[in-house]
Amino acid sequence: MASIFTKIVNGEIPCHKVAEDDNFLAFLDINPLVKGHTLVIPKKETDYIFDIDDRELGEMMVFAKKVAKAIDKTIPCSRVGIAVLGLEVPHAHIHLVPINGIYDIDFSKPKLKLDQDEFLSIAESITKNI
Ligand code: AMP
Repeated sequence: MASIFTKIVNGEIPCHKVAEDDNFLAFLDINPLVKGHTLVIPKKETDYIFDIDDRELGEMMVFAKKVAKAIDKTIPCSRVGIAVLGLEVPHAHIHLVPINGIYDIDFSKPKLKLDQDEFLSIAESITKNI
């Protein structure tokens, strides 16, 4: 069965897209730790990130770097942290989280509730800075 992220890639369910190329997609996390929390995924579904072949994994990181730089320009933060968990969705993804301190990337804390307009405006602002 296709992962929820493959359904996003195929346009079967919506996302707040930040960036896309032939092989990768970046979109806002629906339960963000902070404003600007973004996921980067390969379009080709692989569960575990370290099962992705070397070349694609390298390209995924380069794509994530471009997105992270744009998040950095958009959201006031000390830097953009990265994390890989994969405990919930079996489709490899990198979390990009603008952080000012360790608390901002604590995945056990309550997530933000943003309305659709906020998601839209954050995604658009990051996209403009790419
Ligand atoms: P994990 O697999 O542990 O890295 O967690 C999966 C992440 O994907 C969580 O942060 C979820 O909030 C996020 N997520 C799950 N479904 C969606 C979705 N449809 N759109 C955006 N983010 C999602």
